[in-house]
Amino acid sequence: MEQFYISVARIAKKTLNHMVAHHTPLLPDLYSKYFYIFLDEVDEEIKEMIDAENSRGQREFKKQQETTVSVINAVSNIINQLDNSTSAHNKSLENHQHKLAGMQKVVDLVELKKLINEEIGKIRESNVSLQHKLTEAQQTVKSLQSQLSQITNLATIDELTGLYNRRALFSRLVEEHSRVERYEEIFSLLIIDIDDFKMINDTYGHQAGDAILRNLAKFLKGNLRTSDFIARFGGEEFIAILPATNLEKARKVGEKIRFMLAKKIFEDKKTQVKIKLTVSIGLSLCTRGDTVDDLIKRADDALYLAKNSGKNRICSEQDLPTAAVKTDTAG
Ligand code: GH3
Ligand code: MG
Ligand code: MG
Repeated sequence: MEQFYISVARIAKKTLNHMVAHHTPLLPDLYSKYFYIFLDEVDEEIKEMIDAENSRGQREFKKQQETTVSVINAVSNIINQLDNSTSAHNKSLENHQHKLAGMQKVVDLVELKKLINEEIGKIRESNVSLQHKLTEAQQTVKSLQSQLSQITNLATIDELTGLYNRRALFSRLVEEHSRVERYEEIFSLLIIDIDDFKMINDTYGHQAGDAILRNLAKFLKGNLRTSDFIARFGGEEFIAILPATNLEKARKVGEKIRFMLAKKIFEDKKTQVKIKLTVSIGLSLCTRGDTVDDLIKRADDALYLAKNSGKNRICSEQDLPTAAVKTDTAG
C-alpha cells in the first residue's frame, strides 16, 4: 500500500509540475487529464490499484447521490399528499358548513354530526400516516447527514493522525490571509518537523513510526490553544497557524512545545521501547501584502536553518540572512 501512495504522490507531483511549466490553469478536469497521461507511465499493478480507488470513490458518490434523490422524492411526495388530503378535507368541511347554515330540522343535525365525525376520523388517520412517513424521511435525512459529514471528514482530515490535512490547511490559510489583507490582522505560522525521524523508522519500524506520528499529533494539539489551527503538512511535518500572534509570542509557543516534548516519552507498545523525540521549528509572520506561498517558504527556510544549526531548536524568518538584508536596507 505504501508503494501505491508513493506512486500516486509521484504522479501528482509530475502532473502539477507539468501544468505549472506549461501555464495550464489548475482546474480539476485538466488536472485529471494530465494525471492520467502520467499514470500511463507507471506499472500495471499500481495503475489497477489507482483505478480501483477511483471507481470506489465514484461508486460511493453515486450511492450518495441516489440516496439524496430518493429522500428528496419521499419528502416531496409527503408534501403532495399533505396538500391533496388537506384540500379534500377542507372541501368536505366546507360542504358540511354550508349544510349546517341552511339546516332547519334537528334530525338533519344528527345526520350532519355523524358526517363531521367521520371526516374528523379520516383527517386523523391521514395525519397519522403522514406522521409515520415524515418520521421515516427524518431518519433517512439524519443518516444522509452523517454520511455527508463522514465524506467531508475524509476530504479534510488526515487519516493517520486525525489532524486536518493539507487541503484543510490551505483553505484555512487562504481564509486567514484574506483576514490579514482586509482587517490588517497578523498571524504566525509554525512548521514543526521531527528530528531524525527516518532513523526512528529505521530503528523501530514503520508501524512504531506511525504510532509516534499519531501521539505527537495529539500532543501538539493539546499544547496549542483551541483558537489555533494545526494540520499535518505531510510526512513528519506539521503546520500550526496562530491567529493574532506576533513572532515573539509564536517563539514562546514553540519553546513551550519543545520544553513539553523534552519531558515526554513515547513508548512502542509492541516492544515497550521508550523513545524520545525532538523537533525543529521554522516561524514566519503573515502581514499585509504577504502571499501564502511566500509565508510557507520563509517558515520552511527558517526550518532549514534550524536543522542546519544543530536541530532541536526554533528559527524564525528574522534569523534568515535575507531578513538581515531587508532590515539593513530599511533602516
Ligand atoms: P531531519 O531531522 O533532517 O528532519 O531528518 P528526518 O529523518 O526527520 O527527515 P527525512 O526527510 O530525511 O525523513 C523523513 C522520514 O519520515 C522518512 C519517511 O520514511 C518518514 N515518514 C514520512 N511519512 C511517514 C508516515 O506516514 N509514517 C512513518 N512511519 N514514517 C513516515
Ligand atoms: Mg521533513
Ligand atoms: Mg524530519
